[in-house]
Amino acid sequence: MTDKRLPRVDLPEDARRDTLAVREGLPRTAWGENSEALFLTSSFVHPDAATAAARFANEEEAFVYSRFSNPTVAMFERRLAALEGTEAALATSSGMSAILLLAMGLLKAGDHVVCSRSVFGSTITLLAREFGKFGVETSFVSQTDVAEWQAAVRPTTKLLFAETPSNPLGDLCDIAALAEVAHGCGALLGVDNCFCTPALQRPTEFGADIVIHSGTKYLDGQGRVLAGALCASSELVERVFTPVIRSAGMSLSPFNAWVVLKGLETLSIRMAAQSERALKLAQWLQVHPAVERVYYPGLADHPQRELVQRQQGGCGGAVLSFTVRSPAEGGPDAARRNAFHVIDQTQVCSITSNLGDTKTTITHPSTTSHGRLTEEQRQAAGITQGLIRVAVGLEDVLDLQADLARGLDTLAA
Ligand SMILES: *Cc1c(COP(=O)(O)O)cnc(C)c1O
Repeated sequence: MTDKRLPRVDLPEDARRDTLAVREGLPRTAWGENSEALFLTSSFVHPDAATAAARFANEEEAFVYSRFSNPTVAMFERRLAALEGTEAALATSSGMSAILLLAMGLLKAGDHVVCSRSVFGSTITLLAREFGKFGVETSFVSQTDVAEWQAAVRPTTKLLFAETPSNPLGDLCDIAALAEVAHGCGALLGVDNCFCTPALQRPTEFGADIVIHSGTKYLDGQGRVLAGALCASSELVERVFTPVIRSAGMSLSPFNAWVVLKGLETLSIRMAAQSERALKLAQWLQVHPAVERVYYPGLADHPQRELVQRQQGGCGGAVLSFTVRSPAEGGPDAARRNAFHVIDQTQVCSITSNLGDTKTTITHPSTTSHGRLTEEQRQAAGITQGLIRVAVGLEDVLDLQADLARGLDTLAA
């Protein structure tokens, strides 16, 4: 719910982000609760029939039905918009449903999309397969080479879509450069900001028009619920996206909204603490004899260091990847065996492909998240059999090092 007639929390005009993260939302109810109220109700009652009619005709603003208006969901939307620095936000049932909302709102048969090849796997499937069925064509291009984006643009291009940094290799897109390409051809730029969150990166400051979130990851931060959101100007949200959610119903449950709303309160300190641990772990891995290469945007020798500085404040986030060494003659099988060995020796890390949790997770991308690609596609994407991804949580980094050392030390011996 984005309407401006809903009551606003009485905060100083210049309240800063960390303050907004815990205070922005809606005013307390008459009961004076200090923690945000959870409104588990599907509908809201009207004082009389004429008022109901006015509210359904959008002549009077009120909460009506939780598919498109609920106070707890509105609190989450307001708080997230405040953190992203956008005028408005719309909450959705998952990150994928936020991308579905984006595509349904902006695209029709005959339209064209340019999208990075390195976005989340289901995003590729949604655009290529599902929207392909409806006559929307998507060109997939390089994560880092802006010239490829420019070359892919057509008169029918309506949307450029990127995710930065990429999963699992941590390559960045230059958001400002992509915004220039998009606006040069009358298209909009959407950015999936799941990995950095507004605590590290605010894509609209670099010209992006729409920001997508999987609230399932860092916004919740504790791996409890699925959630998503789309952040944009009030004009786009009201004209383009609210009508879609109202009729298509990819809405966020008030309960899940309450969970992610509370998650936002600790987002900036979690991102700082988890990124700090990730950097320490990445630096430790870099000098381990059994490690071939570490991929982490926070490292001083990252090939896009200047962009990391400009776009995400020099911080690498909490996800890193590395490849284990294996004898060249052993080929991909030996590499996979060694990677599995390191993963299987862990006792602290959770073997799961979720990320954004306070619990560190470890995964083997080529047989899980990227398992549906052909070996050729995986090679092209750099997802080798020796690659391991770690999404660093809040455990003591010494325990995480010891956890990885158990397998790595035996490989090095
Ligand atoms: C997980 C993820 C999504 C999808 O989010 P869900 O909440 O699982 O639907 C989209 N983009 C990125 C970058 C993700 O990591």
